[in-house]
Amino acid sequence: MPMQPQTGADWRAVLSDLPIPLSVKNDPLLLHSLETLIQEGRVGKDIGSDLHRNSELPGLTALAQMIKQSRFGGQVFFNENLHVNTTNICTLACRFCAFRKGPRHRDAYSLSAEEFVSRIEPYQGVIDEVHAVGGLHPEWKIDHYMKIYELTKRHFPDISIKSLTAVEVKHIASRSHLSIKQTLKKLQKSGLNSLPGGGAEILVDSVRDRICMGKEKSLEYLEIHAIAHELGIPTNCTMLFGTIETIEDRMTHFDMLRTQQDSTGGFQCFVPYPFLEDNTRLPEAKLASGEEVIRVIAISRIMLDNIPHIKAYRMNIGDHLASIAINSGADDIDGTVGHEEIMHVAGSTTNVDYDSDKLARLIELSGQEPVKRDSTYSRLQPISSKPSAQSKALPIIGQ
Ligand code: SF4
Repeated sequence: MPMQPQTGADWRAVLSDLPIPLSVKNDPLLLHSLETLIQEGRVGKDIGSDLHRNSELPGLTALAQMIKQSRFGGQVFFNENLHVNTTNICTLACRFCAFRKGPRHRDAYSLSAEEFVSRIEPYQGVIDEVHAVGGLHPEWKIDHYMKIYELTKRHFPDISIKSLTAVEVKHIASRSHLSIKQTLKKLQKSGLNSLPGGGAEILVDSVRDRICMGKEKSLEYLEIHAIAHELGIPTNCTMLFGTIETIEDRMTHFDMLRTQQDSTGGFQCFVPYPFLEDNTRLPEAKLASGEEVIRVIAISRIMLDNIPHIKAYRMNIGDHLASIAINSGADDIDGTVGHEEIMHVAGSTTNVDYDSDKLARLIELSGQEPVKRDSTYSRLQPISSKPSAQSKALPIIGQ
């Protein structure tokens, strides 16, 4: 039985009652897209490409924000989380990756279960989720991950474990001579709660072959997530853009995700993020401008009609763009984070020391209402930042 996507079942009815901004009304393509959505339709790949190329940003973001409003009103969600990477040693060498190291590199590391737990200890009582991904370790089998999750749950039973990209699951299964389903079942029993969705990159194999040769194929990514959904493990899905892909490739990516979601329903959140180039090996990457980042986030909200949450991943896009993103269709901002390596080694300079109050303030100064959530959006708590802290507003783009 498919997992049920959360929230907003009647969002199309709400959407039909919202006032239509002039910037949408005056653009036939945007108006057509709005009407399609209201009438239970889906914006097709061709229209999506057209929107991407030809719509003016204020109208595009206004439409995306109408859809976000119809699902969640003014609310923007965040959680208090911590990133811990299990290892940076990896048997692959994706060309966009600044994080991986060879086993003999002086900065290579591999955490024991005890070391993993000790990274969480300082955040005990504050965070409710640990986000744990890493490289494909040449020696680790499933036992190592089971030990990490079991020890984490023994010490911190209330912390949700969001861990493993699809290619890590595939690697663990292969190293342990297990099927994907057997692997996920064992990991779930050991304490794994959800999958973060990393590694989707672009779900077009000709692109994958050039930017991440050796990684799972597009259909394998979807199949691993489908099996997780079947087992009741919710997952996120992602998109890495600004490498070598075309606009049509991005549309194919959206279409594959929403088709998967139609049948298994377990994607909670879509996380789009642009390629960051420091320490990578992809000189032909086109890179995405700030304008393009916001454009992609807005289009993802318009295209992905069956994935409830769209995330502004501040570790990658920074606080300024994140504040624009939550006025352009995104309803979630990640997160307090505590520690982050993957984006920072590739050039991110985003602060990692935000507490709940600072993040709430960022959301309020962007004109939205902060809501603290748990890992699976099942516990929601509207909060306000401390009054004295409100001073300088971050500028937002006009709608
Ligand atoms: S992206 Fe993941 S799989 Fe690819 S090289 Fe980096 S750590 Fe390894």
